[in-house]
Amino acid sequence: MDYKNYIKIVDDWPKEGIQFKDITPLMDNGKAFKAAVDEIVTFARQKNIDLVVGPEARGFIIGCPVSYALEVGFAPVRKEGKLPREVIKVDYGLEYGKNVLTIHKDAIKPGQRVLITDDLLATGGTIEATIQLVEALGGIVVGCAFLVELSYLNGSEKLEGYDVLTVTSF
Ligand code: AMP
Repeated sequence: MDYKNYIKIVDDWPKEGIQFKDITPLMDNGKAFKAAVDEIVTFARQKNIDLVVGPEARGFIIGCPVSYALEVGFAPVRKEGKLPREVIKVDYGLEYGKNVLTIHKDAIKPGQRVLITDDLLATGGTIEATIQLVEALGGIVVGCAFLVELSYLNGSEKLEGYDVLTVTSF
């Protein structure tokens, strides 16, 4: 399936010079969305995963159906001030801004095998920060999976040594 047909490119959003890749048309189409999620599930099934972790908000959209299919848990990574209990945090830079990400301290048990999911790999800052959070809690990142990669931003360079799946790329 050519998933690119279901991804709309929005110029100059949220800032001038950014070509935003809008995945909502893909999510609107049940067959295309299921096929894309199934590709990640197939990748993940070979890895004996204990837990899926995804950053807000679109990492939830991809990660939750994957965790449901694998019958494992999902742990959210959220912006500062959103999680109600004790967290650890990390600062990082975005393609268009700065951010702080947090995870509950007890979300991961040491030695758990973790799949990280997000909708899109751009500069890699978000996923690098998410990996730092998972590893700080003793989790083992056994894979990172994305619907979309913007290969011209070279985010995959930050993921050297990790097993990465991208369903489609620009
Ligand atoms: P990065 O940290 O630069 O890899 O950015 C990844 C995160 O920002 C993902 O969670 C995406 O949802 C979002 N993002 C960054 N750039 C874009 C873009 N051009 N189009 C859509 N989403 C983007």
